[in-house]
Amino acid sequence: MKKIYYDSWIANHLLFKNYGTITLAAWVCTRYKTKEEMPQRVRNHECTHARQWCECMLVSGVIIWVLTLFAGISPWWFALAFLMFYILYVLEWLVKLCFYGRNAYRHISFEREANAGENDETYLENSGYFEWVKYILKE
Ligand SMILES: [Zn+2]
Repeated sequence: MKKIYYDSWIANHLLFKNYGTITLAAWVCTRYKTKEEMPQRVRNHECTHARQWCECMLVSGVIIWVLTLFAGISPWWFALAFLMFYILYVLEWLVKLCFYGRNAYRHISFEREANAGENDETYLENSGYFEWVKYILKE
């Protein structure tokens, strides 16, 4: 399945001027016109976010599925699974805003994992799932 959309309408029209690439759910939308134009480092970083989104959706989806079966909650809660990566991302950013101010973004565990692995071309192959969890409390 295609994961990266080059010369994406979303990236070209919805991103702020200083941003060229965004990961939405499991897909990467970029202003880069071709694969050759996009640095491998950026591709690694964004694909790490795509995997993090999948991990968050999967775990929260299983939890919601169990709650649907055994606690009788509405299946509408599955919508939360789709958004779980973004919910956790914003919550962590809000907490870290208190500690790091305008540098809070750099301390979000999802960003720290993506930054740590972006120069390793085999990172996604060789790293474990949920590596971002290690960065939540790590300095
Ligand atoms: Zn990032």
